[in-house]
Amino acid sequence: MSNSFRFYNSLTRKVDEFVPNEEGKVAMYTCGPTVYHYAHIGNIRTYIMQDVLIKALEYAGYDVKRVMNITDVGHLSSDADTGEDKMLAGAKREHKSVMEIARFYTDAFFKDFDAVGNKKPDVIEPATNCIPEFIHMVEVLLEKGYAYQAGGNIYFDTSKLDDYYVFSSAIEKEALQIGVRDDVEEDSNKRNKTDFVLWFTKSKFEDQALKWDSPWGVGYPGWHIECSCISMKHLGERLDIHCGGVDNMFPHHTNEIAQSESYLGHKWCNYWFHSNHLNDRAGKMSKSKGAVLTVSVLKEKGYDPLVYRFFCLQSHYRKPLEFSFDVLDSNVATFNKLVKRVAELKADGAVDEAVKKEFEDKFREAISDDLNTSMAITVLYDALKADTNDATKLSLVESFDKVLSLDLVGHAKALSEETEVDPELLEYINEQIQKRAEAKKAKDFATADAIREELLSRGVEIKDTREGVKWQLV
Ligand code: AMP
Ligand code: ZN
Repeated sequence: MSNSFRFYNSLTRKVDEFVPNEEGKVAMYTCGPTVYHYAHIGNIRTYIMQDVLIKALEYAGYDVKRVMNITDVGHLSSDADTGEDKMLAGAKREHKSVMEIARFYTDAFFKDFDAVGNKKPDVIEPATNCIPEFIHMVEVLLEKGYAYQAGGNIYFDTSKLDDYYVFSSAIEKEALQIGVRDDVEEDSNKRNKTDFVLWFTKSKFEDQALKWDSPWGVGYPGWHIECSCISMKHLGERLDIHCGGVDNMFPHHTNEIAQSESYLGHKWCNYWFHSNHLNDRAGKMSKSKGAVLTVSVLKEKGYDPLVYRFFCLQSHYRKPLEFSFDVLDSNVATFNKLVKRVAELKADGAVDEAVKKEFEDKFREAISDDLNTSMAITVLYDALKADTNDATKLSLVESFDKVLSLDLVGHAKALSEETEVDPELLEYINEQIQKRAEAKKAKDFATADAIREELLSRGVEIKDTREGVKWQLV
């Protein structure tokens, strides 16, 4: 591991050199989705940036094990442990059971997660799989005097810690304390305003769907306990990197650290990676706001999900990013031009290893410098312009795509096929596409579908996109 890998660590509030607990290995935990609704494109931005972090670490030579939870119980509508369980609210909204809702939105999440080129986590664990582990951690926290029982619930006692607000500067701490004070009457069982629920047995929502036996009565876990337990279950007592969106820093990650380190009796996680939000013109995108713009919706509108990834990669993960369809459209044009340039490369001749190494080093340096994705893309353009042969350029595109995951070679191949097929077949395809367009215009969808099927049976798949109908050989 000769190269240095650096990124911003929310714990130290600076860009830190990354040094894992075990040489060459990375134990990484990422907070997964709360599966009561579709994940919007903002949530997916967070997962794209985490995917880039993993692949950048791999590019730098690390072996990464990544664990992700699925929140299917205990996340209430207010982060201050009040309101309704989000899963229950989702079930009521759709007249389904909580588990049906969880299954449906977990599948929908991974469909979009995969479509933007993300690698699946090595372990995916729903919170409801780990209730015995949660109960055990709560028992230990009670034994050690970090937790107390009040009004039927078990709370974590934040006054037992010297430094509870680990991510905040002195000024921010004061602001947080004022914010917390405003909440004071919300849960009179809490000894301190910042205390949080580890286990509920009594609450104002008696119709909570999922409940389990515990030493303190039938109940269900608080939200934060799942991430500490699931992480320790699969990654042990020392975590290298914990990831999430900036909104997770307080109270979620702050509480995770409080309970984990009190339970373990030593430091838990060395690096905290937080990515900033995607906003639209109306402000922060939020699942609870109702209509959600998802990657699947973008796809239905004819956008390639990888163009959304391309859009995300061009801005830094620590800056807020504003989404608009105008900006996405200009990304479609830039992406198509990039694909065209890759499609023009002819893989003849030998790869010039010296040139390849020079550009790979530049790329690695950009990506290892607090994940400078826009600089990494600039290195890609520089490589395409370089004074070297096409075989070297193509090999560099493949190499960089291990991190960028834009499937540039696949897109280029599809574009070449469109222009290089047998002229007779090309004429036939164009004729059929024209007939299909006419059928669709006349609302004769049966004929339109039959044409699509017939083309497919001849190995030609067609897609409706923003730039018109596209096809590829399958
Ligand atoms: P949730 O399903 O609400 O728990 O959120 C899943 C992930 O998306 C969390 O890591 C959040 O921090 C993150 N997130 C929530 N809203 C946004 C947003 N507007 N932009 C980017 N990430 C977000
Ligand atoms: Zn979490």
